[in-house]
Amino acid sequence: TFRKDYNSLDHLGPVSSHGDNNLLQSSLTAKELVLDVLKKRAAEVDVDHCGPGEEDAFYVADMGEVYRQHMRWKMNLGRVKPFYAVKCNPDPEVLRLMAQLGNGFDCASKSEIDMALQTGIDPSRIIYAQPCKTKSYLRYASEVGVKQMTFDNADELYKIKATFPEAELYLRILTDDSTSLCRLSMKFGASMDQARMLLELAYKLELKVVGVSFHVGSGAEDPRAFLKAVQDARMVFDQAAEIGHELHTLDVGGGFCQDTFEKFAGILGEAVDTYFPPNIRVIAEPGRYYVATAYTLAANVIARRDIPDPDDPSRDAFMLYLNDGVYGNFSNIIFDHQHPVAQVLTCAADSQPGSPNSATSEDITYSIWGPTCDGIDVISERIALPGLLNTGDWLYFEEMGAYTKCSATRFNGFSDNHEVIYISSEPGASALLDY
Ligand code: PLP
Repeated sequence: TFRKDYNSLDHLGPVSSHGDNNLLQSSLTAKELVLDVLKKRAAEVDVDHCGPGEEDAFYVADMGEVYRQHMRWKMNLGRVKPFYAVKCNPDPEVLRLMAQLGNGFDCASKSEIDMALQTGIDPSRIIYAQPCKTKSYLRYASEVGVKQMTFDNADELYKIKATFPEAELYLRILTDDSTSLCRLSMKFGASMDQARMLLELAYKLELKVVGVSFHVGSGAEDPRAFLKAVQDARMVFDQAAEIGHELHTLDVGGGFCQDTFEKFAGILGEAVDTYFPPNIRVIAEPGRYYVATAYTLAANVIARRDIPDPDDPSRDAFMLYLNDGVYGNFSNIIFDHQHPVAQVLTCAADSQPGSPNSATSEDITYSIWGPTCDGIDVISERIALPGLLNTGDWLYFEEMGAYTKCSATRFNGFSDNHEVIYISSEPGASALLDY
């Protein structure tokens, strides 16, 4: 949803970025702006009278934050052109902004290719970065002119030869991803021992290898993994030249995180400049880096159970049940090893005069659960929050933009398509998106 009423920056007062690059002067930070919109939207719901689902969880997405991440990328990795990893968050508004920013797209399936093309970009701005592709999708890529794609095994080369012999191929090599949150190398990537054989086979099949790609694992922790991967890629470039291929692009994959970005970018940028001359194009496939911090999720407390505090039975503790859980937008707990942190958005008891809670504002112990019948549907096993929360109150969770909505299910009949309210805390993004 684009809500004009939530997007008037005048109405909310001037906004500032909370990063170093203070793009605007301000009284309201980007975080405060998001919180303001969350509160206004939550206040529209009357849980005692609303229709079914009107109290469903919802997102506020700050496209200004995506824009700031892009500026940060340009400042630190100017040589490396981002091809946004659509799988991470295929929200059409994110894709529209990526297209406007001049980025490319990393797609893993036909439907991701379609979503990227729907932004109006040229197919040359897409890399089909899935080393083991569905044959019919490969035919589709050929029909719509998406030529760039990765491979990491001989069978895939025969498949490409039979289906799309004009494709421009990137040999994906293995990396050491042992420090990554989500490891990928047990599934994809050719070892350095196999690289020469694959390059020779591609040459024999008259296929065009144009580059090398790798992925150090999603949520990587050790920046030296990038250095080693760039060194390995250099060796593969040299082998390819010996065989007769003319490689022109290095694809350094994804794995960049919000907190460690500058450290990683420093090591990667230096490695790339050391091992690859300026005529070699360098691209990347960042996903979570762009969107993780841009999305905040609000969920409603649908039920509460009073239990003795497991650590101090003389005190009360409470189990809170939300209308979103690990089968929904909190799928990042299961698939992405995340630990979303609950914060109180509204607490009706707080505003009631004489409430024990407002008098003491003491922290209360909660566990937080999702709405399905499954015991693994737990968001937080123990958390202290201010205020005596009850049915109808709202909690919110920051940093919910990556691997959340896209991997939500409809298990138990709950929605997998929650409202997103788009705002922009950055005039640059507002101008590109017409907000
Ligand atoms: N590229 C490929 C081939 C991937 O498999 C992934 C994630 O699994 C990404 C890019 C994006 O990774 P991240 O979100 O960690 O940047």
